[in-house]
Amino acid sequence: MITDKKGFIKRFILYLLMLLYITAGCTQSKSVFVEQQEYMLGTIIQVKVYGSSKKKIKESLEKAFRRVEEIEKKFSVRIPTSEITEINEQAGRSPVKVDQETIYLLERSLYFSDLSKGAFDPTIGSLVKLWGIGTESAQVPDKNILQQKLRTVNYKDLTLDISQSTAYLTQIDQQLDLGAIAKGYAADEMKRILKEEGIETAFLNLGGNVLTIGNKLDGSPWKVGVQNPLTERGEYIGIVPIQDEAIVSSGNYERFFEQNGVRYHHILDPQTGYPSENGLISTTIITKASIDADALSTSAYVMGLKDGFALIESLPNVEGIFITSEKKIFVTSGLKASFHLTNEEFSYEKR
Ligand code: AMP
Ligand code: MG
Repeated sequence: MITDKKGFIKRFILYLLMLLYITAGCTQSKSVFVEQQEYMLGTIIQVKVYGSSKKKIKESLEKAFRRVEEIEKKFSVRIPTSEITEINEQAGRSPVKVDQETIYLLERSLYFSDLSKGAFDPTIGSLVKLWGIGTESAQVPDKNILQQKLRTVNYKDLTLDISQSTAYLTQIDQQLDLGAIAKGYAADEMKRILKEEGIETAFLNLGGNVLTIGNKLDGSPWKVGVQNPLTERGEYIGIVPIQDEAIVSSGNYERFFEQNGVRYHHILDPQTGYPSENGLISTTIITKASIDADALSTSAYVMGLKDGFALIESLPNVEGIFITSEKKIFVTSGLKASFHLTNEEFSYEKR
């Protein structure tokens, strides 16, 4: 009897210790939250991470942010020593030896150019420079100069030699601009590094390119707001639950200037050379990889509601939200059950 009682007490203490250990483990595993923000790739990059050690998270975040810095140095047209600038400088002259990574990004760009029948075009660079949207010198260009620059926009002139790892723009004056896809790639790279570092719960936002790692701490999916294209940043028209996916928006509200009451925004139509005007004011794409979501949101924006919607609907595991200037919202079939409209000024249209 006495031994039994002793045994019981021993077991009870052991049980208590185990319980303590387990609960301590639970709270310890995700009790720490670290947020880091930096201005890179022409936007604010904000990453929130939950984990067990502040020091470890900070080190992981540092690696992820330094990787973005590396990507910016390689792909930015604003950096005179970047590989993309070098390809631009050698346009019409000679192929340029570049990293495998650059070849990969250019290959993906050409893939989306083909898929969108040229609505997405990485050789849009000379037009982007001419308009200067988002810079101090933004202006409506002279029509003749615009026509001249427009002739340099043709993704078929970008030649890649995979075995030699070279890239070449065949026309003089032709210019690459990877602004519609590089942020997505950087987002994927940040996520890859954080996961490699053992991070299981994170929320990344690269100026509207959002992606997540794992679920929220309570186990439910992250809920991401879709920006209201007609108001300030941070106001939403609806909410989408996201599970280990990327969500990227393109819109006429992101970068623009106004002249004589007309808004000129940064998404250019390679057919006309002018900002894309087809009734859409925002497109949002949800898919596994942020690079794909980024390229597709720009593509769909330029393609317009009819063709853009049909393209996104035809792609497996890709969903989209299209918003028109008449405040109508169209969502692809895979999102109908989960998209939640929160702003009654907009109407939800069936398609
Ligand atoms: P996003 O915000 O991802 O839609 O990309 C817009 C940015 O991509 C612009 O600021 C330009 O740098 C570039 N861009 C503009 N129009 C196009 C286009 N039709 N195809 C590819 N890139 C574009
Ligand atoms: Mg894009």
